Amino acid sequence: MPKGFFNVPKAVNEPVKSYIPNSPEKAAVLAAYKKMWNETIDVPMYIGSSEVRTGNTRTMSAPHDHKHIVGTYHLGEAQHVTQAIDAALEARKKWANMPWEHRAGIFLKAAELIAGPYRARINAATMIAQSKTIFQAEIDAACELIDFLRYNVQFMTQIYSDQPASVSDIWNRVEYRPLEGFVYAITPFNFTAIAANLPASAALMGNTVVWKPSDSQVFSAKVIIDVFKEAGVPDGVINVVFGDPVMITDIVLKHPDFAGVHYTGSTFVFKEIWKKIGENIHTYKTYPRIVGETGGKDFVLAHPSANVKQVVANTIRGAFEFQGQKCSAASRAYFPKSLWPAIKEEMGKELASIKMGSPEDFSNFVTAVIHEGSFDKLVSYIEQAKQDADAEILFGGNYDKSVGYFIQPTVILTTNPKYKTMETELFGPVLTVYIYEDADWAKTLELVDSTSEYALTGAIFSQDRYAIVEATQALQNSAGNFYINDKPTGAVVGMQPFGGARASGTNDKAGSMQNLLRWVSPRTIKETFVTPADYRYPFLGE
Ligand code: NAD
Repeated sequence: MPKGFFNVPKAVNEPVKSYIPNSPEKAAVLAAYKKMWNETIDVPMYIGSSEVRTGNTRTMSAPHDHKHIVGTYHLGEAQHVTQAIDAALEARKKWANMPWEHRAGIFLKAAELIAGPYRARINAATMIAQSKTIFQAEIDAACELIDFLRYNVQFMTQIYSDQPASVSDIWNRVEYRPLEGFVYAITPFNFTAIAANLPASAALMGNTVVWKPSDSQVFSAKVIIDVFKEAGVPDGVINVVFGDPVMITDIVLKHPDFAGVHYTGSTFVFKEIWKKIGENIHTYKTYPRIVGETGGKDFVLAHPSANVKQVVANTIRGAFEFQGQKCSAASRAYFPKSLWPAIKEEMGKELASIKMGSPEDFSNFVTAVIHEGSFDKLVSYIEQAKQDADAEILFGGNYDKSVGYFIQPTVILTTNPKYKTMETELFGPVLTVYIYEDADWAKTLELVDSTSEYALTGAIFSQDRYAIVEATQALQNSAGNFYINDKPTGAVVGMQPFGGARASGTNDKAGSMQNLLRWVSPRTIKETFVTPADYRYPFLGE
């Protein structure tokens, strides 16, 4: 038990390194890239203290060079899921009672390992198997993950120090117990930081976890596992299973000790998970916590007063960085007719300067999309737009999967504000643009608000403060993260707590105190010092 009210180091955001030519960080990450590219690793499942190899393996490759294999990982069966749950429940006996400062010490150490000795490796892994440019890898796998770990430790202490009032003869206390049972973390391919944070945040609060990473992120997940092990996360606290997601999820959600799910991924999958939890509700010992951050159809809206160069630069960054595979990526844009000729010219010029290829070549701004399924889906939307009377391909529209899954940054212009690609999340480098009449600004605000089921991020560009006020008001439910004169991507932990509403998720704001509160179940303790020994109150007297 703690013998002091300890202060944790004040959380500071990890500075983003520049990777300019001849910098030591550039040399280090390229050396790590080459080394990892030329090895093949074999990734087991991690269940309790065991590394489990089933021999039923799947390969891992680079999306930008898909024939190049960088490793294999082992798929589990039903019994492995059950073993992982058992290992989590066994580990909980000790972990839930681990003094908080030691849990903090482990995850603060993990942050420093990533900031230092593991930085090049975790970035290189993210470049190789998720095809991120070095900048995209650095802001995700290194900086965002470090920030999650540091800030969450600070938020944990803020939660613990939130205590009720007491009086001299009655001392009231609240202790923030971990959930009774285990937590299930299901993570997406697109952010290494999210993959690590979903199991780690629940574990930091004293829970034990079964973690199912995305099949397309196992390569960098291995680095996360190595970091957690070196930082001292005990066996069984975070158990890692791979395999059929439906099979794994069905077993987990039928378990009586299932206490919560920490999910990030697409909306449909989350709704299915929620439905299954409902179906199993009579099985559980407690009401499970359901936390899910899901899809988006994120907008950019320019007012006639907007600065054209700013609109174009931020729309390009928002729509095409990491090939548009961010939940926050700009994928529908609304531009006023008066600015359209200038925006179109500037956008065409800028898009022509973008280079696409391997992330190992630092001059590439865009690389490949994650896998063949995604490539084929994006191509079908692009081809459909070429056919449809109410759409045209304005820029890009080319693609090639012979070496890597490359899709040229593509801009579709539509005359139909409800065109399919204005409403549906495509998750790739495809932006759809609708031109509105300047006089229809107010109507356009309604259109932006009502066009998609999502409400994750959105950006408005305006030099007119009245228009900014009007848009901020009219779009209050259209985005959980709303940007004024900035791109809709790139939220920073501790600065812009992240999450959306409507079909975009439960909006528990990853990287905030709110999220951590979902992983504890407070117990109130009232202690009375002078306990009454007579049931009669004074008013009963004659
Ligand atoms: P995905 O839905 O394909 O997969 C997410 C996870 O769910 C993976 O681990 C996958 O194996 C698992 N899964 C898939 N089908 C399942 C099923 N039937 N039952 C249980 N688990 C299942 O998503 P993805 O392609 O990895 O990631 C992209 C999606 O994630 C996009 O929709 C994006 O908007 C969303 N996302 C949202 C946020 C956010 O903070 N809102 C952040 C990142 C990604």
